[in-house]
Amino acid sequence: MKLKVAIQKSGRLSEKSLELLKECGIKVSNGDRTLKTEAKNFPMEILFLRDDDIPQYVEQGVADIGILGENEVMEKEKDVITIERLGFGNCRLSLAIPKDDVYSDLSYFQGKKVATSYPKILRKFFLEKNIDAGIEEIGGSVEIATSIGLADGIFDIVSTGSTLLMNGLKEIETVLKSEAVLISNKNLSPEKSEILDKLLFRIKAYKNGISNKYIVLNAPNESLDKICALIPGMRFPTILPLSGSDWSSVHSVVEEDDFWNVIDALKSYGAEGILVMPIEKMIV
Ligand code: ATP
Ligand code: ZN
Repeated sequence: MKLKVAIQKSGRLSEKSLELLKECGIKVSNGDRTLKTEAKNFPMEILFLRDDDIPQYVEQGVADIGILGENEVMEKEKDVITIERLGFGNCRLSLAIPKDDVYSDLSYFQGKKVATSYPKILRKFFLEKNIDAGIEEIGGSVEIATSIGLADGIFDIVSTGSTLLMNGLKEIETVLKSEAVLISNKNLSPEKSEILDKLLFRIKAYKNGISNKYIVLNAPNESLDKICALIPGMRFPTILPLSGSDWSSVHSVVEEDDFWNVIDALKSYGAEGILVMPIEKMIV
């Protein structure tokens, strides 16, 4: 029994998807990127597909699970479950208009035409906001739609905004923030669910590893209570006495997100010799 996972054949998510599997200890040879290949040391088969097709294949069970942008999952509206956000492929779907147009609010779009490759997401958004706008569905090169007179505005993927600028557009509303996600077929067999659970366990250990840092520091004993409250770690911090002094060495784990705030506070409690190290995997 093998779990069939669909990933993007070639594009922005391909390398990162393979890297995620590799970080989970799964060896995949993808030298020639044929349609499918088997993992060497895990019961998994990898299918290389266009990202647009992945939701449908997962719904039908051609693939059991898939890795793709949340934006595609939402646009395709297939009957699949999103089981994990993966932390890469971050982008947003935004509305943009010619940069010299005056914009105050969404009523700008009333009676106007917007070009997009994401008609379903946009239609839903306009419906929610009570905006009656025309939607022009196009397959690609959406950013040129206004300059060639096809539409008044566009709705497209933005990551840095430089493509918009180059085409004389400005971003005015973000509709959806997206990242790569893991989706699954709704009716996996118990055997396949078991393999998926194993994979998920590894993905979580990897994600925890990259979102946390191992921290070692020296602190005066009188600050230990405050420091332990600040960096409790996975359960409790480790405290080792520094011989012949009233100082201790503290070992713990901190989250990347509030890392600098924690460091500032630690310094104010008298901590010194602070070392911060990456964590390869973290099993909580
Ligand atoms: P395919 O040939 O598989 O259909 P594609 O052209 O639709 O590929 P890519 O441009 O490779 O797709 O983008 C794949 C996904 O990467 C997007 O759906 C989105 O989730 C994510 N992404 C992240 N940043 C960007 C970006 N700057 N531009 C486009 N997509 C991005
Ligand atoms: Zn695509």
